[in-house]
Amino acid sequence: MIKEQLEKIRERADAFIAQADTEQALEEARIRFLGKKGELTGILRGMGALSAEERPAVGALANKIRENIEQVLAERKEALKSKGMELRLRAEKVDVTLPANGKKVGHLHPITQTRNRMVEIFTGMGFEIAEGPEVESAYYNFDALNAPADHPSRDETDTFYFSDDTLLRTQTSPVQIRSMIGRTPPIRMISPGRVYRCDVADATHSPMFHQCEGLVIDKNVTMGDLKGTLATFAKAMFGESTRVRFRPHNFPFTEPSAEVDVSCFVCGGKGCRVCKGEGWIEILGAGMVHPNVLRAGGIDPDVYSGFAFGMGIERVAMTSFGITDLRLMFDNDERFLEQF
Ligand SMILES: [Zn+2]
Repeated sequence: MIKEQLEKIRERADAFIAQADTEQALEEARIRFLGKKGELTGILRGMGALSAEERPAVGALANKIRENIEQVLAERKEALKSKGMELRLRAEKVDVTLPANGKKVGHLHPITQTRNRMVEIFTGMGFEIAEGPEVESAYYNFDALNAPADHPSRDETDTFYFSDDTLLRTQTSPVQIRSMIGRTPPIRMISPGRVYRCDVADATHSPMFHQCEGLVIDKNVTMGDLKGTLATFAKAMFGESTRVRFRPHNFPFTEPSAEVDVSCFVCGGKGCRVCKGEGWIEILGAGMVHPNVLRAGGIDPDVYSGFAFGMGIERVAMTSFGITDLRLMFDNDERFLEQF
């Protein structure tokens, strides 16, 4: 009687375990048949009612069935494990015929692209690159450049001062003086770099921006050389049909001075949105180096003459890329930068 019950438990356990398809279901099966309150344990508890003759045989059978169920459980567990592995391998299979996920390659910022192009054009004309400090003395930034003591750009509302004599350079022009000192002309240099002014950021202003300074000093340098140099630059930068126009202006460090426009490379001079109907776009200031500036650089103005120019790199970049808000240049929003 009890032997039949044991055999039935074995059959039920076999069927139950065969259907278990998760580790959790297997554990439930183990508890149901082998646990402290399990079916097999229940039968063994009832062995007290058996005669002394019957007990060993029933005990042996119960142990055999326990071992049997344990074995079936272990086998099923092993089977589930390899099935899980197989499923995982199938899910993780790599289809080598699919196109690869492309790596995102970055590119240079529009300001850097523009600066590099300027450097390329001017070095092609024989200019060398000069550098100067961004933390500059008032002497190099103003005095040596012939800026009068009451020049508005010296004001604290225009210039970032560390002390009366130390400031963040407001222009790349101090590099002119640094390039002249201790050297004998000919000098042909450009100096691209950051400059700082106390401006609130808006569509056309930024407290930090970039300029590219240019300086040529030699014997018999004339305004014609300046015009030819800038015309060559403009054609290379904006296109072969670009023309330049000089308008009289006043800078302390050059005499005569001019503001320089290029013909609009979009409409060719007819007038459009980019040039605001003017046909011309202002890109830089230039002129013949003032004798006082030559003297400050230790160069004799009776022997040598020279020209200088300075242009905003952002202005050139915005003009050539058609960017209308300066702030976009410094937001570093990838959606913007990706377009250039
Ligand atoms: Zn235009």
